[in-house]
Amino acid sequence: MLSESEALIKKIESYDKSKYLKEIPKAIKFIIEAHSGQKRDSGEPYVYHPIAVAHILADIGLDSLTIIAGLLHDTVEDTKVTLEKITKEFGAEVASLVDGVTKLNKIEGKSESVVQAENFRKLIIAVSKDIRVLLIKLADRMHNMRTLQHINSHARRYKVASETMDVFAPLAERIGMHWFKNELQDMAFNELQPDARASIIARLDLLKKSDPLIEKWIIGELDKLFGSNNFTCIVIGRQKSPYSIWDKMKRKNISFEQLSDIMAFRVIVDDVADCYRALGILHKDYHAVPGSIKDFISTPKKNGYQSIHTVIIGPKEHKIEIQIRTKGMHEIAEMGIAAHWCYKQDQDYIEGIKYNWIQELLQILEVASDPNELLENTKLEMYYDQVFCFTPGGTLIALPKGASTVDFAYAVHSDVGNKCVGAKVNKRVVPLRTVLQNGDQVEILTSDNHKPMPSWENFVVTGKALSEIKKSVREHNREEYMNLGRVLLSQCLEERKLKYRDRLVKSMAKFFHKNCSEDFLCAIGEGHISTNSINKYFSSKKNKDKDDSHELPKKEGVEEKKEKDSSISIKGLTPGMAVHLASCCNPIPGDVIVGLQQTGKGITVHISDCETLQHYSSNPEQWIGLSWDKNRNKEQFRACLSTIMINKPGSLSIVTAEIAKQEANIVNFKINNRSEEFFEIAIDIEVKGLTHLTNILASLRVKSCIQSVQRYLR
Ligand code: MN
Repeated sequence: MLSESEALIKKIESYDKSKYLKEIPKAIKFIIEAHSGQKRDSGEPYVYHPIAVAHILADIGLDSLTIIAGLLHDTVEDTKVTLEKITKEFGAEVASLVDGVTKLNKIEGKSESVVQAENFRKLIIAVSKDIRVLLIKLADRMHNMRTLQHINSHARRYKVASETMDVFAPLAERIGMHWFKNELQDMAFNELQPDARASIIARLDLLKKSDPLIEKWIIGELDKLFGSNNFTCIVIGRQKSPYSIWDKMKRKNISFEQLSDIMAFRVIVDDVADCYRALGILHKDYHAVPGSIKDFISTPKKNGYQSIHTVIIGPKEHKIEIQIRTKGMHEIAEMGIAAHWCYKQDQDYIEGIKYNWIQELLQILEVASDPNELLENTKLEMYYDQVFCFTPGGTLIALPKGASTVDFAYAVHSDVGNKCVGAKVNKRVVPLRTVLQNGDQVEILTSDNHKPMPSWENFVVTGKALSEIKKSVREHNREEYMNLGRVLLSQCLEERKLKYRDRLVKSMAKFFHKNCSEDFLCAIGEGHISTNSINKYFSSKKNKDKDDSHELPKKEGVEEKKEKDSSISIKGLTPGMAVHLASCCNPIPGDVIVGLQQTGKGITVHISDCETLQHYSSNPEQWIGLSWDKNRNKEQFRACLSTIMINKPGSLSIVTAEIAKQEANIVNFKINNRSEEFFEIAIDIEVKGLTHLTNILASLRVKSCIQSVQRYLR
């Protein structure tokens, strides 16, 4: 085992001499101990596996820290080692990488597909935080695939292979690691469709046998051509993998013979200008197949891949595919993000593509080449119903489809949700009810003295948001109903010249079968206990106990005098909670108002001449005198305007401009009638109060295009 350690260190120290290099032997000792007694399916000691994974990571040039995490990658999942122990021994960064690749424990009562989906979700989140988690996961998968034949169960092999084909190979491709992708795909192909693969290999062999020197001969011809142009480059042959040939035959629905690019070559040059010169030299002597030239240098692929592709009718009329690229491009084409990772100065590049890349990852889940197959094999149904969004800091938040910014806020933290006042999606301010899309970056604006609005319940979709809003509204509601109940009760007491005293309220609460004064006040506010029944309480009390000392003799005329200032202020009460503004007349501050007490709903506020009130003329005990809270100036109230305008171009813009000038918002707009001369429109605006509205009406009436404008009560 010591030699293993030496071989690994030798490999790493050629490119990374950081302090973590010295910890490699310690990590190897650590895992030998942790995995002692465990065996792989092959019968080898288990520890061979993490060491092989570490070698793969070293082959792609990853840093020592990542390689230590690779060595430890199975300890938390499969041994008694804990994350705390790893943190203590190797630091938090290593521990967080190990945590990222560790699957969740099997959860009792959850089906395998749910657990698999949850594990995948955990992996995505970990990868979004640190892409090295994916590199370790891919190296792990690579070694597991290389040793797949040791698994006895056909079903298990098939499952691992299809997961590799549908999830891990595409992941490798998206981060540009073609070397990984090709090997993973081909190994999975071998398990999933061994006959198909065998037949393709047989055909390739046959082709080779019919003209065994053809590849070398073509390379020689191309070398000669470049040489005669005094052009330096390296021409190499490229064997396409059986899977990529099979895939192309399937995708393009063509036969083996029709595949033009079974013979493929690469031309590696020094710099970008040489790429185009090489193309010119090739095209000067050989015909290019029309439509076959692709310039991925001027427009790189999303995963960073760069090359020029062309298909030429080459020497002896052989149709051959050629890729032209620089050495640097070649490295990135093979290693993708890992290549960037090695050049430490490319940190910016990694950060830059991280965001795009995660979007790509989400696209795999959304529109995989064959979604049904992906679903069948990997049971990722759950992800089709999800959107993945980001905080401004780049943290991934997964939500169900249809989720709004408020759901996002609650997903971040209950406090953020409860204090949420606004949201920015992709840096633009949007309404809170905005439905989020995959990849949206969401910033939540909060304010300390804000509470969730009851109306949010109508558009949130997550259980967490809904229950938090309900809880907060309930608490706030209770507070408001209590305040309202206290005011209503005080009024009743005052009419009897009684003082509001805690003892009295307590005994009344008992009489009404309420557990405490608070419940009692709440019941009054909600209208479950009417002022009528409170009056009855006093009369029954009076009969039972004639010399009730609390009560003072009534004076004539007091009641009528009281009537005038008995109105209660709606100060501190929130519309939508204990107090609702009636939608029939839309009262605004300044209007003379009347409250209607309705059981279970608290008070509905109407303008005193609203027609709705007629329906309640026979129940005067439900009517409550109300007055506006004078300090209510931050809120906006809806007022409806009925306008008749002269039908000429520009009329409408004059009206809307004037309303804007008066600092009111138009919230609704409807053309009701249109004749040659006039048109009638209903405009709903938001105002601060009656004075504000009166000013707007006056300023509109001066406009020559306005025939008439008035407030409209429905
Ligand atoms: Mn493993």
